[in-house]
Amino acid sequence: MTDVLRIDDLTMHLETELGTVRAVENLSLRVDEGEAVALVGESGCGKSMTALSIMRLLPPYARFRSGSIRVAGKDLVTAPERAMRQIRGGTIGMIFQDPLTFLNPLRQVGEQIAEAVRLHTGAGRVEADAQALEALRRVRIADAENVVHNYPHQLSGGMRQRVLIAIAVACRPSLLICDEPTTALDVTIQAQIMELIDNLRHELGTAVLLITHDLGLVAQYCSRVYVMYAGQVVEDAGVREIFQHPRHPYTQALLQSSLRPDRVSEDFAVIDGQPPQLLAPPPGCRFHPRCPRVFDPCPSAMPGLDRAGEGRAMVRCHLEEAHQ
Ligand code: SF4
Ligand code: MG
Repeated sequence: MTDVLRIDDLTMHLETELGTVRAVENLSLRVDEGEAVALVGESGCGKSMTALSIMRLLPPYARFRSGSIRVAGKDLVTAPERAMRQIRGGTIGMIFQDPLTFLNPLRQVGEQIAEAVRLHTGAGRVEADAQALEALRRVRIADAENVVHNYPHQLSGGMRQRVLIAIAVACRPSLLICDEPTTALDVTIQAQIMELIDNLRHELGTAVLLITHDLGLVAQYCSRVYVMYAGQVVEDAGVREIFQHPRHPYTQALLQSSLRPDRVSEDFAVIDGQPPQLLAPPPGCRFHPRCPRVFDPCPSAMPGLDRAGEGRAMVRCHLEEAHQ
């Protein structure tokens, strides 16, 4: 399989007035052609910062410290801004939780899709308008001929998310990054949007990186999972392995909390203790203040990311080293 995205040992910090926020540290991640991969973790763990690093849509005080992000052989960490403008919306499409922050309220949705097409393909106005209409049909908007003339506020939340997806896939990207794409929508619409993303992945051969805190979506739509905690990947494995044999105590806690219907929550705050502040993450294993299995080395030594046996998951935990 060819990878469409390959991140190696990425460290990205935010230099704020309060100090250094260690948003992403030593993160490695791969998405292969046509594959659906999940990045899961609590809010504030660095998932969205990872996505924004890939798109280079970071605040000005963000600093890449080390590592590379490769898409189609190009390193996006060092790519000139002009190349990035082609990659964003061209090679990589992105959809966010709240489409309204991305859509221009003063322009008809058809124009907004057509503009993305013109920017990335150099198509003329007539051709771009035709492609905008086709993109709306591709995201299953029945009366696309009318919707092209609508403004975002005239559409429901689910329809706006469809329009955002239409913009994201209008140029047939090889990778679609979906950051909590359904969190703001009600349950029936959520299912429709996820089905749509999954169908588009098959139709267009687009790989998907799904950023979510919803393990139900991961089980249903993804084949591999990266679990992120406090700016680091702590486990990566096939979806079946993660659900049947989670190795990292944090992954185990996530799964347990997601199985408790009395504690269903918007996020993973259901695990005892607070997620760490990335301004001053705990020393040693970052999960140690909350870990039920903490032992001698954990509070002082940071565990490496080790393979849990041939062809198995990668796990960042001293227990794995103790087993080997
Ligand atoms: Fe728990 Fe120690 Fe493993 Fe961290 S390294 S997850 S504290 S057992
Ligand atoms: Mg987020």
